[in-house]
Amino acid sequence: MANADHPFLHLAAPQIAGLTPYIPGKPVSELERELGIRDAVKLASNENPLGCGEAARAAYLAAAAELARYPDGGAFALRGAIAEHHGVDAAQVTVGNGSNDVLDLVARTFLGPGLDSVFSEHAFAVYPIATQAVGATARVAPARDYGHDLDAMAALVSARTRVVWIANPNNPTGTWVAAEPLRAFIAALPAHVIAVVDEAYFEYVEAPDYPDAGAWLADCPNLIVTRTFAKVHGLAALRVGYGLSHPAVAELLNRVRAPFNVNAPAQAAAVAALGDAEHVARSVAHNRTERARLAAGLAELGLDVIPSVCNFVTVDLGRPVGFVDQALLRRGVICRPVANYGLPNHLRISVGLAHENDRLLAALAAVLAEPAA
Ligand SMILES: *Cc1c(COP(=O)(O)O)cnc(C)c1O
Repeated sequence: MANADHPFLHLAAPQIAGLTPYIPGKPVSELERELGIRDAVKLASNENPLGCGEAARAAYLAAAAELARYPDGGAFALRGAIAEHHGVDAAQVTVGNGSNDVLDLVARTFLGPGLDSVFSEHAFAVYPIATQAVGATARVAPARDYGHDLDAMAALVSARTRVVWIANPNNPTGTWVAAEPLRAFIAALPAHVIAVVDEAYFEYVEAPDYPDAGAWLADCPNLIVTRTFAKVHGLAALRVGYGLSHPAVAELLNRVRAPFNVNAPAQAAAVAALGDAEHVARSVAHNRTERARLAAGLAELGLDVIPSVCNFVTVDLGRPVGFVDQALLRRGVICRPVANYGLPNHLRISVGLAHENDRLLAALAAVLAEPAA
C-alpha cells in the first residue's frame, strides 16, 4: 500500500509514517503456486543450502515434548554455550529472536529522537529501519568500492551519534573490513558512541586479516558484536541470534528485551548447532567451492561480480534488473534485486546446491540471450 493513500497513516507515530519496510525474498511455495511448478529454486535469502546439522535437528525435535512450557527466559544453557564458545562471561551475552532482534534492542536502548546512527551506503537494510523506527536520524557515509569507507563513516560521527553500525562482512555487497583499520576506527570513536560489528557471515570468511571482533571486547567497552544461527548454522526458520558486549551494556539491552524472545526449540537447536563444528566446516567447504564456480559462471556470461567472502555473490547487470529478475522468476529461479540498497543494476545471488547454481546460470544465460534483454 502506497504511503499516500494509507488510511491509518495519520495515526502512526511520525517516525513510522516515513518508514520503508524490509523486503523479504519471495517464498518458494508462493512462486511454485504462481507458476504451477514444483522445482523452483530460491537463491534469495542467503540460507544454508545444506540445511542445519543433524544434532540441531534432533535437539529441535526433542523440544517438541515441552511445547506447553514457556522457554527459559534467561536462556541459561544457550548463553552458557555461547559464552564458552567465545571465551566470555555469560553476563556479556544477549540473545535475540534472530540477530535482527539484537540490532533492534540496540536501537531501542541507545537511539531516539535527536540522536543519530552512522552506517555505510549499501549496508544491511535493518540499520536504517531500526534507526528510523525509534525516531533517530540515519547518517549514511558514501561507500568505497562497494565496501565500508571507515574514514567517511568517522567523519559523520557527531555529538548526537550514539551508534555506528558496521556489517563485517556486509550484505548485500559481500565486502569486508580488515582487522587493523577496524580496530583503529573503533578505538578512535568518542566514548558516547556504541560500535556494533555485525558478523552474520563470520564463519564463511576466509580472508587472512579478517577479524573476530569479539576478541576485542575486553579492551573496547563500547563494542557490541552480533552473530546469528540463521546463516552457516542453517537455522533461519527458528530466528535466533545474539550480541556480545560489556556486561553493563548487555544489562541495558536486557531491560528492553522481551522476556521470552527466543523460543525453546530455537534455544535447544542453537546449543546443538554451536557444538557441531563439523557441520559448519562442511557448509563452509561447500560454499567455498560453489561460490567460486558461481562467480566464474557469471564472469563467463560477461558480468562483473563484486568479490565476496560470504555465501552470496552480487552481480552487476549493467542496467536496472527488473526485466532479468522477472524473467528468472518465470524460469523458477528466485534471486534478490538490491535496488533498495542503492544498487539498482545489481542482483544478489545466494550460493545454493550445485544443481541450483547450475539452474541459475543456465536460466540467466538464456534470459541474457533474449532479444528484449
Ligand atoms: C542475515 C543477516 C543478519 C541476520 O539476521 P537474523 O535476524 O539473525 O536472521 C544480520 N546481519 C546481516 C548483515 C545479515 O545479512
